[in-house]
Amino acid sequence: MLYNDVCGERLSALGLGMMRLPCTDEKMLVIDEAKTCEMIDFAIENGVNYFDNAWIYHGGNSERIAGKYLRRHKREDFKLATKFPGMLPEAIGNARGIFETQMEKCACGFFDFYLLHNVNENNIEYYLDDEKYHIVSYFREQQKKGLIRHLGFSCHSSPETLARFLERYGDIMEFGQLQLNYLDWHLQEACEKAALLDKYNIPVWIMEPLRGGRLANPPEEMKSCLKSVRPGTGYVELAFRFLQSLPNVKMVLSGMGNMEQLKENIRIFSENRALTEKEFSQLLKIADGYTAQMGVPCTGCRYCVEKCPQKLDIPKLLTQYNEQKVSNGSWIARMVIGKLPENERPGACIGCRGCEKVCPQKIRISEVLKSFAAELAPPVSD
Ligand code: SF4
Ligand code: SF4
Repeated sequence: MLYNDVCGERLSALGLGMMRLPCTDEKMLVIDEAKTCEMIDFAIENGVNYFDNAWIYHGGNSERIAGKYLRRHKREDFKLATKFPGMLPEAIGNARGIFETQMEKCACGFFDFYLLHNVNENNIEYYLDDEKYHIVSYFREQQKKGLIRHLGFSCHSSPETLARFLERYGDIMEFGQLQLNYLDWHLQEACEKAALLDKYNIPVWIMEPLRGGRLANPPEEMKSCLKSVRPGTGYVELAFRFLQSLPNVKMVLSGMGNMEQLKENIRIFSENRALTEKEFSQLLKIADGYTAQMGVPCTGCRYCVEKCPQKLDIPKLLTQYNEQKVSNGSWIARMVIGKLPENERPGACIGCRGCEKVCPQKIRISEVLKSFAAELAPPVSD
């Protein structure tokens, strides 16, 4: 197992994400304890020492099961991470109640790593108004008491929202968890978000390295191209080798659901075989080509923006359009667009086509925005 010395700790480069544990029911609420126990033991025996949990995983059952089976090991052999569910309205104003319940559920004495879960457009104001909501200050107090060793956050927001968060808390956040993989490098502006963390010297933790398993079995359109990047390397390994090429990435979390996945991931993380520059750009080219094929080939040149009488941030809207298309419907696109004022949303386009005259990619922007607005509109009931 590879390790990184980060935040004053020695962490395995691979962490076990506990949101897709083996379950005995279809709704993934009843965790198969025997299989989970076996996976935890195998992970620790094979050098994995980071276990990532959250209040919401498996309907709230994951934290209890994680604590139950991790406690059988020496406390220094595992690092337990969990998260404050700031995306749930009922959590706001109840940091203490949630944290105390988590302490009781996990019963591991303290959390090595504690995250504000999914800082985004919908909850950023609660975090920023600490005088009123006391979220960050509450967790800082727990840190001073030794109940939290390292405080960080996870984020699915736009770079602008992340920048606002970092402007306020960049000096106290010790790590930041991003959805980052070769498909999201441009699609979800993960590249920009990773650069922002870099600017604040905050190490990057990776979530969704395989985009919820999708990159383990990529779309047919991508398969033959992917095989040519590093012949003989499987899809999963390629996705992880991409992440090994990013120096600020210090933790890769994978939500593993069975022993085969765990064994294969441990094998991959037994060595660093980062991509060469050529392989790296080849992989991104394939990903961007796929995104453009599913959505539109916007390069973000912004020539169109000054031609728009509605002052729409066209490339930003097209980024979310692509996200919506590649994900076949996306809560992230809905969230980002939903937080914009009406006059900045796709529906504000008046179809003048001034932008299209200057677009080097010949994107039919007005038509795309019209269809995007229709996709985002709530269904009309009778
Ligand atoms: S077509 Fe829409 S997006 Fe393009 S310039 Fe006109 S209003 Fe702006
Ligand atoms: S001009 Fe075309 S390619 Fe450039 S940002 Fe606008 S839509 Fe994208």
